[in-house]
Amino acid sequence: MANDEMLSVAEAQHIILDQIETCSAEAVTLLEALGRVLAADVVAQDDLPPFDNSAMDGYAVRASDVASASYDAPITLSVVADIAAGHPSEVVIGAGQAARIMTGAPLPAGADAVTPVEVTDEPLRRGVLPEQVKVFQNSKRGEYIRSAGGDVRRGERVLGAGAVVRPAEIALLAALGVDRVPVIRRPRVAVLATGDELVQPGEPLKPGAIRNANGFSTAAQVMRYGGVPLQLGIARDTADDVRGKLAEAVAAQADLFVVSAGVSVGAYDLVKDVVRAEGELNFWRVRMRPGKPLAFGRFHGLPFFGLPGNPVSALLTFEQFVRPAILKMCGHTRWQKPMIEVVLAEDVTSDGRETYARARVVRAGDQYVARLSGGQASNVLSALVAANALVIIPEGQTQAKAGSRVMAQMLDWSEDVF
Ligand code: AMP
Ligand code: MG
Repeated sequence: MANDEMLSVAEAQHIILDQIETCSAEAVTLLEALGRVLAADVVAQDDLPPFDNSAMDGYAVRASDVASASYDAPITLSVVADIAAGHPSEVVIGAGQAARIMTGAPLPAGADAVTPVEVTDEPLRRGVLPEQVKVFQNSKRGEYIRSAGGDVRRGERVLGAGAVVRPAEIALLAALGVDRVPVIRRPRVAVLATGDELVQPGEPLKPGAIRNANGFSTAAQVMRYGGVPLQLGIARDTADDVRGKLAEAVAAQADLFVVSAGVSVGAYDLVKDVVRAEGELNFWRVRMRPGKPLAFGRFHGLPFFGLPGNPVSALLTFEQFVRPAILKMCGHTRWQKPMIEVVLAEDVTSDGRETYARARVVRAGDQYVARLSGGQASNVLSALVAANALVIIPEGQTQAKAGSRVMAQMLDWSEDVF
């Protein structure tokens, strides 16, 4: 493919994902596994629950003893033990006997049902273990008993490689005694902002200076999607400085580079040349608005992204191109953002490139209505901050009229949308 070819968004995404490989596996602690992708199946080494236990505070009984129990004709049982959670009892429940038992406590031998305390006379007396208990309701065999292996059986494959670890998965892993979890490693993503005009937030603004927004927004996006940012700071608009910073990242074992600015056609846009000299560029232009200058290639064999300098363009091209790459590196197999159909509240124009207009979507009855959230120039951060969606005007179309239906990519879901 020619380097100067201008690609569609979909073509560019395809080329990128084709070249991105999933990272290797590592074992981490339970909490470190949150949000990560399992690198191997997990097989239960124990039954869950590990033993028959009571689902209620009450009395472990023999169902046959209380088969006829009612409020009019209660059955009186003698209480032979008091079994708390964590304290198994050796007692064997014989005919006419019961053991007081708490939720989660092991069921004693001989018992085959639990009568909840609420349907005995104990609530009326409370506290000390009674010698006898009156039962007001019959129990079926197995009632209020949680059987060993009733949730998960030993040897069962409970989680598959590729599953995303959420708090529920962490609960299951912990319950099964897993304390080291095999997950895909987080990619280390080198983040570099380029530009002679840039100063760091916190430094005084000199004449003509612009604060480095991209170095932080890119690092934040890397973190949000599961990568570890290696913040390289700012490179000046010289080939030596850019090359030097990228070399630092290679030494720090980066897996991926994301560089902002300096990839367009300006006289000082030299990032592309630096990459070509020690790697290759697959493409550097995409028919997307905002964000035409979007470079992808390899530097020292590692995937390289060059994002446009304007902060909104940098953020949105990251969402469409870098985000899927990082998710794939993290082991995910789905990276599509939620898309919904919306009705435009106003005309939206485009220059024919696939346009991602910053918009606010609200629910109005049984449909969603989208309105632009502010100025659409690629430097206007306030409109992106006010947006909860990107309205997409497909390639080749220069206008979408008020009242027409278009697709919107949701950036976040808030009460407005429900
Ligand atoms: P460039 O791609 O170098 O032509 O930059 C395009 C625009 O983005 C210029 O107005 C730059 O000042 C601005 N810009 C570049 N890098 C950053 C950055 N890290 N933070 C904020 N604005 C930037
Ligand atoms: Mg520049």
